[in-house]
Amino acid sequence: MTNSVIIIGAGIAGLAAGCYAQMNGYRSQIFELHDLPGGLCTAWDRKGYTFDGCIHYLFGSAPEQPFNQVWQELGAVQDRPMINHEEFMRVVDPYGRTLIIYCDPDRLEAHMKELSPIDAALIEDLAEGVRQFMKFDMASMQEKPKPLMGPNDWRDFGLKMLPFALPLAKWGMVSAADFAQRFKDPFLRRAFPHVFAWPEIPMMAGISLLSYMQTGNASFPQGGSLEFARAVERRYLELGGQIHYKAQVEKILVEGDRAVGVRLYNDEIHHADAIISAADGHATLFHMLDGEFANRKIKGRYDGRLPIHAQMQVSLGVDRDLSAEPHWVTYLLDEPIVLAGEKKETIGVKHYCFDPTLAPAGKSAVIVMFPSDYHYWQRIYGRRLYDIEQIQVCETIIDFLETRYPGVRAQIEVKDVATPVSYERYTGNWLGSSCGWLLTKETMMMMIQGIEKTLPGLRNFYMAGQWVEPGGSVPIVAMSGRNVIQMLCHEDKRAFVAQIPERVMGIGY
Ligand SMILES: Cc1cc2nc3c(=O)[nH]c(=O)nc-3n(C[C@H](O)[C@H](O)[C@H](O)COP(=O)(O)OP(=O)(O)OC[C@H]3O[C@@H](n4cnc5c(N)ncnc54)[C@H](O)[C@@H]3O)c2cc1C
Repeated sequence: MTNSVIIIGAGIAGLAAGCYAQMNGYRSQIFELHDLPGGLCTAWDRKGYTFDGCIHYLFGSAPEQPFNQVWQELGAVQDRPMINHEEFMRVVDPYGRTLIIYCDPDRLEAHMKELSPIDAALIEDLAEGVRQFMKFDMASMQEKPKPLMGPNDWRDFGLKMLPFALPLAKWGMVSAADFAQRFKDPFLRRAFPHVFAWPEIPMMAGISLLSYMQTGNASFPQGGSLEFARAVERRYLELGGQIHYKAQVEKILVEGDRAVGVRLYNDEIHHADAIISAADGHATLFHMLDGEFANRKIKGRYDGRLPIHAQMQVSLGVDRDLSAEPHWVTYLLDEPIVLAGEKKETIGVKHYCFDPTLAPAGKSAVIVMFPSDYHYWQRIYGRRLYDIEQIQVCETIIDFLETRYPGVRAQIEVKDVATPVSYERYTGNWLGSSCGWLLTKETMMMMIQGIEKTLPGLRNFYMAGQWVEPGGSVPIVAMSGRNVIQMLCHEDKRAFVAQIPERVMGIGY
């Protein structure tokens, strides 16, 4: 029988696990290496600007829609204004041809047909895909942890999925890059791989995103990602949970076949009846547990063959109102630009003027994100070259921005650069990964099936978060935290309960 629970990591998965542990009568405490909640779901303040480092779209932002219930339970969405966009992003070529990814499938269809009448049939197919996925309940895949699903659960799940069987098969195994090759129009062929942020994304994920944006269920939470995470932290504390910040776990203590506690880097030892790691998967398995409970299958996931997305983010505080500009534009370049040793053929620029809380009035928080090789940065980390290279990247980007937004160089008040090593340092994520394993058509099945949340030969131990939910994302990892507490309750023969708080204090917009 479990009474006490230790959770490693106060990212969204750890906070969610903590909230549901408290709701179910467990005494829980969270150990977090940083001095902030949220993990990757974060933002940082610089001279009056808030640079958001995470949420572009929050699944579950609309009442009664998939994933909303979990956010209600976690007290994260009540009274929080949600910001919706009519377009997800646009892609512009050097000659000004512009592909606008409208969320409304009718508008998207009309716009794309205007760009390329010859591709009408393919465009209709795409728009129909968006319409079909509007009713797709992605959250139902995680309502109950897979090992606890009985025959009736599988039957109900099958019935829910049945209408989507064909669309899932059709769109699940084709990436945005693959789909792009079907266009006859050369501009669409070049632009389309970039419309959902990474070219290898399965079309199913991109299409679901547009569908959810169209139903208002993939919004930006006003105040940004850290404020959002803080709301979940508040809920946890109100439920009686305890968080220890600047408390990095070094080892998970094991006696026989049971996890019994943790040892921190400062040598403090804490015991509990169950241990949940919602921290980085690699560190959990190979450092905190010394690789002892990783069988061949588990080791295989970390052998470097599965795709990982590490990125850089250059954030700029600009003394200029960019609100009349489209909020997210990916520019296709004439000549590639070299950033951190890699040739880039596109540059994506996003401003956050849609949320007035993120910059002083009349000014704009602007970010440029792009994939970057973790090892490149890791090799030079700690040397002067690391700082020089960050400045070089930032200046190259500003040179580029000057060509598209003339005069901007002189208006930049704040510059901030995050490399893959920054992500690793602040959140412990292996190779600076932003989402565990990147969602591609290769990892799609792993995402649907999920990864085991327990380890062979180790009792009283669970894993939650993006390293057991390929593709990550804040709603999925929140469900992951919920799922491990469902498993704990099942072990203890307790009925799992979840409550929506009557009133959430302290959001105050
Ligand atoms: C740039 C970017 C954009 C994104 N955009 C979106 C988006 O638009 N929508 C969306 O849904 N998702 C998005 N994501 C993905 C999403 O943020 C992540 O998948 C999710 O937040 C992961 O949560 P987690 O709790 O599993 O892990 P993490 O956030 O990594 O949390 C793990 C926590 O454990 C702590 N920790 C690690 N090691 C230890 C230790 N030894 N001891 C104590 N604590 C430890 C870390 O400090 C961290 O707080 C984005 C991510 C990034 C980086």
